Amino acid sequence: MIAKKMLALGKSDSAIRAIAAYGDARRSEIGSENVFDFSIGNPNVPTPEKVKNTLIELLQNEESLALHGYTAAPGAMAARKAAAEQESKRAGYDIPAESIYLTSGASSSLSIVLSALVSEGEKVAVLAPFFPEYKVFAENAGAEILIVPPAGDDMQPFMAAFENAVEQGVAAVIINSPNNPSGAILSEQTLRVMSKILQAAQEEKGKSIYLIADEPYRELVYGDVTVPFVPNIYPNTIVCYSYSKSLSLPGERLGYIMVPPCVKDSAEVFAAVCGAGRALGYVCAPSLMQHMLAQCADVRPDITSYAKNRDTLYDALSGMGFDCVKPDGAFYLFVKAPKGDSAGEFCEKAKKFEILLVPSDSFGVAGYARLAYCVSEKTAENSLPAFRKLAEEYGL
Ligand code: PLP
Repeated sequence: MIAKKMLALGKSDSAIRAIAAYGDARRSEIGSENVFDFSIGNPNVPTPEKVKNTLIELLQNEESLALHGYTAAPGAMAARKAAAEQESKRAGYDIPAESIYLTSGASSSLSIVLSALVSEGEKVAVLAPFFPEYKVFAENAGAEILIVPPAGDDMQPFMAAFENAVEQGVAAVIINSPNNPSGAILSEQTLRVMSKILQAAQEEKGKSIYLIADEPYRELVYGDVTVPFVPNIYPNTIVCYSYSKSLSLPGERLGYIMVPPCVKDSAEVFAAVCGAGRALGYVCAPSLMQHMLAQCADVRPDITSYAKNRDTLYDALSGMGFDCVKPDGAFYLFVKAPKGDSAGEFCEKAKKFEILLVPSDSFGVAGYARLAYCVSEKTAENSLPAFRKLAEEYGL
């Protein structure tokens, strides 16, 4: 019998993919230069040269490398070691390679960690706005999500609501900084307040509460803002990382889970991660990418173009009267729907001018639209007259 839950999930398209599909259709109708598609977080910055050249060299020497063979389930030791060395630099102490479980991106990292650490009927807190798939992954692990609303337009967590959710009893909390869809970063001070609340709840309830730090955007930060190494603030933190955005490789599927030694019973937690990876069939991340990683873990993205688009769009849209907070990281701008419109109404009006945005409802907050500015600088510039017409439509 078909599983009803999976059937429903398979039939309900993600809001982001539905708009991206509309964009494909519009491009073939009116030409790609006339569609301002800000719907999907597909990096348009090219893969760094070192990564490209390493892949070419690997392919030229493939016979000697077992390039396309299975690796160990948590990944090849050379690749795990390379990832661990980078994490050690952030941590300020030695993170062993054995703390790293390579995955096919943050999606599988999150699915594995939730299956490993959450039991049927338990609760997982998420901070709105949040990546919509968290709900799918948590529910698949048998958990229910508790949504913590933001305190205001800057999309920082409403701490009283966070405390309340933790007091209700949660097995885990998922954070995402820099954030998709708002670009907001959780400061060290905010993380310390959250840590205090979590530590107190752990003591009171006598059990571990895990912080799951989903960090695919941590290298995409602007100005002098820094992304703290979260396990140094709250030790029971498991990091889910992805190279999708930092190395512009989303289709190649590579990421990892890090269970640092400071996690309580870290060896047991790592064993549960291996078990969940096995149960879900997420073993042996793509082998060619693992070989690349062993040589390229130190490569950082060139974010010049994202920074330029952020300035172009933020300055222009704010100047036109749209309400948005300047993002500190990632490549998203979260724009408030003018004149009390719903997110859906705002996005429909934008569509009339061929501007494709994603309504905020599936991110767990009402009344905003997400604009993914990982597009060419030309697209960002050329979209401005269309935004001006949209502003006029609203009488801004
Ligand atoms: N987490 C967040 C916040 C994301 O924005 C994304 C992708 O856009 C993912 C996880 C999934 O990334 P991956 O491509 O590594 O599966």
